[in-house]
Amino acid sequence: MNPFDQELTTRLDSLREQELHRRLRPVASPQQTQVLVEGRQRVNFSSNDYLGLANHPKLKEAVIQAVQTEGVGSGASRLICGSLAAHHRLEEALAAFKQTEAALTFSSGYATAVGTITALLSKGDFVITDKLVHASIIDAVRLSGATLRVFKHNDLEQLEQQLRWADAERKGPAGQIVPAAPGSPRRGGPQILVVTESVFSMDGDLAPLRDVVELKDRYGAWLMVDEAHATGLFGEGRRGAVEAMELSGRVEVQMGTLGKALGAAGGYIVGSRTLVDWLINRARSFIFSTAPTPAAAAAAQAGVELVQSNEGEQRRQRLWAQVNRLKEVMVEAGWSLPAVQSAILPLIVGPERSALQLAQALFDDGFWVPAIRYPTVARGSARLRFTVTADHSREEIERLGQTLHRLRQDWVAEGSVT
Ligand SMILES: *Cc1c(COP(=O)(O)O)cnc(C)c1O
Repeated sequence: MNPFDQELTTRLDSLREQELHRRLRPVASPQQTQVLVEGRQRVNFSSNDYLGLANHPKLKEAVIQAVQTEGVGSGASRLICGSLAAHHRLEEALAAFKQTEAALTFSSGYATAVGTITALLSKGDFVITDKLVHASIIDAVRLSGATLRVFKHNDLEQLEQQLRWADAERKGPAGQIVPAAPGSPRRGGPQILVVTESVFSMDGDLAPLRDVVELKDRYGAWLMVDEAHATGLFGEGRRGAVEAMELSGRVEVQMGTLGKALGAAGGYIVGSRTLVDWLINRARSFIFSTAPTPAAAAAAQAGVELVQSNEGEQRRQRLWAQVNRLKEVMVEAGWSLPAVQSAILPLIVGPERSALQLAQALFDDGFWVPAIRYPTVARGSARLRFTVTADHSREEIERLGQTLHRLRQDWVAEGSVT
């Protein structure tokens, strides 16, 4: 083996020793509740396709239409010659759905976070995030050069401390924000951006968004809310938690993904037209990347429209009914769940090895729920993250309950719990 591969082999071995090695597991069926994983039929309880749109006939039809009328590739970045009608239609649909002035789409949610945060902040600015925000936000913050402060998960007191600190820091001894130097492209001095998710991706709990909004207003900070796991699920119009908590218009930057409840792929920002105009000019992951295919945009647009239809509401109601039933069967089986109000039910087991063993036992019994480990969650807080979709049947959930009951008996018998 050459020295390059030798080095990487050593590193991979180290991951294996820590039970942190991962591998891809090919799925030979569409994304749906029954999937074919490595040749075996399994019931999928790990997808973010909450409303069951990823394999929906309406989205498929939209893609076929788009391919036939608009072709496949988009040819260039949006700012060169790739700003196709499909992207503009999607952005109009998103802005109408979210009731904002404007929307901008990216190739993924990850690219959205990276492009947006680095466009808004640079060295000298401050960013304050919840401890549990998604990796895309952490990477974006690092890349921006802004000074990072983290508050304990959903801890408003710590958030306020950090805000007070950053505000004092930007004001300096004079106690006033130093205006930008003459000739600077900026108007104000250093900015403070607070970033949180509305529904936390690996814990399933909600942020106290109303209080967060109050605090950021008090300190003159900006707020960015990642609605990746809330869009399509919360609020009367299914717009997300910002709508449900009646905060529309009070959040400077709302982001999300087109790849979860919306059933397609890509990411988006919604907000003011000025924000979108700024991102078109400064978001590097938008500028220096080939535009998504028209088919991807058409699929997402169909997802946005479907979510707003009667069927979207019916699917959401089915989803919540399934979530509630799964919570019940998990508790009846003897497992304890944290209080969650989303479609994400984390069964936190702790050691990486235990999570892997449980995942394997579930797989052997017909269920696909991969173990979630570091670096997705903190070391020693490995978990099985159960997600339900509108398309799961009662029977699938009851069967999972039986398996979880049996696994719980084994777990207790093996002394994994005291
Ligand atoms: C999935 C996710 C993203 C990234 O979105 P992609 O479209 O998958 O790249 C960003 N933030 C959160 C909270 C997520 O769960």
